[in-house]
Amino acid sequence: MTDTIGIDDMGRMIRSAADKIRANRDELSKLDSAIGDGDHGMTITRAMGIAEKVIEESEKKELKGLLKDVGWGVMGVDGGATGPLLGSFLMGLSNGVGEQDAIDCPTLAAMFEAGLAGVRRQSKAQIGDKTMMDALLPAVDVIRQAADAGKSIKETLHKVAAAAENGAVSTKKFQARFGRAKNLGERTIGHQDPGATSMALIFQGFFEGLP
Ligand code: ADP
Ligand code: MG
Repeated sequence: MTDTIGIDDMGRMIRSAADKIRANRDELSKLDSAIGDGDHGMTITRAMGIAEKVIEESEKKELKGLLKDVGWGVMGVDGGATGPLLGSFLMGLSNGVGEQDAIDCPTLAAMFEAGLAGVRRQSKAQIGDKTMMDALLPAVDVIRQAADAGKSIKETLHKVAAAAENGAVSTKKFQARFGRAKNLGERTIGHQDPGATSMALIFQGFFEGLP
């Protein structure tokens, strides 16, 4: 049996991520209220809603073009940092996929790496800066390692979700050095970063959306 996912699977993964975000909307805004302006749950829910809508309405039959449209739509979400960051991640995914529509684990790893490269064009944040990068960077490390080790897509995305969740929890001990939270300095210590938390929920949603 070949271990691949196709365009419909990817659609389900994105819808599952959107469900996960919606279910945690108020919790995400609460986290943002502690160290930001309290809008993160709303903004990321809107962003994932647009991703779903693009998938629903798109006539595109190939993954590369579809992901590009999804990223483009999300990038246009106004209301701060989230649209450009998440939009460039999703748009970046399309750079990692060729014309093929059956994605194996190494291709999925290349897609995530390209997604990260997209985010890096928007942000210089590193591990420990208390941003969504604290979830995204370990997630991308893990997918590369698992793909290189020949793991299945399911096992890989399970590990990815766990790594992102650990990364999100780790932000509690950091002081924010980027974004709105930076202004609060040391007072951000002890609070979990909302952007890292939503990133981890998205990866958990991807895993749960797998066939
Ligand atoms: P805003 O701060 O503009 O209100 P959101 O509340 O939607 O935007 O998102 C806040 C999250 O965005 C933060 O928790 C952090 O994870 C992420 N973030 C903000 N600025 C940056 C940045 N420069 N680099 C990486 N992530 C960032
Ligand atoms: Mg905010």
